[in-house]
Amino acid sequence: MFLAVGSSKGVRLEDVRELITKLAAENALKYGKASPKAVLGKLIAAKPELKPKIRDIISLVEEVVAEINTLPPEALNQLAGPPKKKKKPSERKWPPLENAEEGKVVTRVAPEPNGYPTLGHAKGLLVPFIYARLYKGKFLLRFEDTNPRVERLEFYEAIREEFATLLEAAEKELGLGPGKWDEEIIESYHIPKMYELAEQLIRKGDAYVCTCPAHIVRAKRKSGEICEHRGHSIETNLELWEKMLSGEFREGEAHLRLKTDMRHPNLTMRDPGIFRIVEAPHPIHGDKYRVYPVYDFSISVMDSLTGVTHAFRSKEFEPHVEVQLAILRKLGLREYEMIQFGRITVEGIPLSKRYIRPLIESGILEGWNDPRIPTLRGLFRRGILPESIVRFFYELGPSKVDATVNFDTIASINRKILDPRVPRYMFVPDPIRVTIEGLDTPTLAKVQVHPEIDMGIREITLEEPLIYISQQDIRGLNVGDEIRLRGLATVNVRSINPDEISLKVSEEQKIKGLKILQWAPLEGGVPARLFIPKTPYSYEMLGGYGEPELANLKNGDLIQLLRLGFARVDSKSPLTLILSHK
Ligand SMILES: [Zn+2]
Repeated sequence: MFLAVGSSKGVRLEDVRELITKLAAENALKYGKASPKAVLGKLIAAKPELKPKIRDIISLVEEVVAEINTLPPEALNQLAGPPKKKKKPSERKWPPLENAEEGKVVTRVAPEPNGYPTLGHAKGLLVPFIYARLYKGKFLLRFEDTNPRVERLEFYEAIREEFATLLEAAEKELGLGPGKWDEEIIESYHIPKMYELAEQLIRKGDAYVCTCPAHIVRAKRKSGEICEHRGHSIETNLELWEKMLSGEFREGEAHLRLKTDMRHPNLTMRDPGIFRIVEAPHPIHGDKYRVYPVYDFSISVMDSLTGVTHAFRSKEFEPHVEVQLAILRKLGLREYEMIQFGRITVEGIPLSKRYIRPLIESGILEGWNDPRIPTLRGLFRRGILPESIVRFFYELGPSKVDATVNFDTIASINRKILDPRVPRYMFVPDPIRVTIEGLDTPTLAKVQVHPEIDMGIREITLEEPLIYISQQDIRGLNVGDEIRLRGLATVNVRSINPDEISLKVSEEQKIKGLKILQWAPLEGGVPARLFIPKTPYSYEMLGGYGEPELANLKNGDLIQLLRLGFARVDSKSPLTLILSHK
């Protein structure tokens, strides 16, 4: 039997009864007795589509609740659902998409392969991906590669790799799967189709070849004057277009313009260029093409042809929406929803390739994976987890306004995820040698791997009573002070010299209320360097010794250094760590 709800959806009565039973049992367990009103409220919250049928349902709810209220608690436990888990993160509501139908939404990310993806690209990836999955639709990766001068093959690969990593993390972190794109499209393979469409526009008198120099075009678009080329016949335009394609014009000597309105209030709409000559080899096609569509043409035509229903784009392109719609309308192509979203800037960290590239070329940065810059590669190398980036953008939501974010926000998300997972180690920067009187050696120190989570105990063997502690830690210490060496002993300060400190084991091995110091054994202590990213130009570097276990770390391991913060192993011999954040 079906309860007809609305016009299209049907809900099975058996399912509704089962749900009511479960809700009533939970309600009865919580309050001793179930209330029909409370159960009805929960039911409508869980299945809002039942709301129009509320009057039919009330009697059903009353019937079930009466039955439930006769049952003993053991029976209720069986009927109630499993104990409530913490609210799943993906239950956080994103605003609905306009004109979206479940199963029919197609979104895409359209990166240009002109550099390594940054945190800004992550938003461009995750917003459409999340919507595609929320609506059980399709998600496309489309390379917007029609600007060959700045595009390189290695960037296609970098984008694929980083995007794959983030989408996998999105499935894991948000439960939105499958965590990958459904189809990959390389725009440049569709250039012949775009030529066809260009010719169609020329034949309809909607496009013309203009051979005015760029500065004249600019001036006339500003003043609203037309040039002599606008009046050319279709035949002349077809001939000139052929000449553009065959190489009779050099770069900058001719371009194809859409015929719209030279007095349009939106300057972008004044006969915009739609194809231009680029005399640079394409990373995939080499010299095969010399005429390339401009962004407005390729993006709108490709979105339309590949079935995109909702296209997300950064707000800076807002004036171009009109141009893109004009192109679609003149070509008679399907229109779709164009959704603007705000850009993000990370406070104090430059995101733009224009800024980063010269720093790489000059050697100030090591490369696109330098941990001081917010390329995804750099962030991963710094120890920022892909799931932290996913979580960050999920919490930020699909905001339409530009947002300035603080690295600390990402760090705090990362910290929450990392903290229960990673072991903690002692590391002694700027070490000073220490002798301990009254310590029987060899001795076994025992330190907890994690203070709150049971990760076991680490044992450190001390063959001789010689250790390092940090110079920072002895500031403020005086002879006679009592301190605790973590996991080792309670000691008194006997003497403090510039190059050595002498300690003596206290009679009473108390722990409470004492300053606890980190240490590393002189014999077996692992030399290590910790790089702390400051600005794209600088690091702070701390050198010192860590406990012996650090020698067993592998490249890429994430750890926490007590009191210093989270770090990632960047390389070994000497052990080099990069501080992720405190
Ligand atoms: Zn002209």
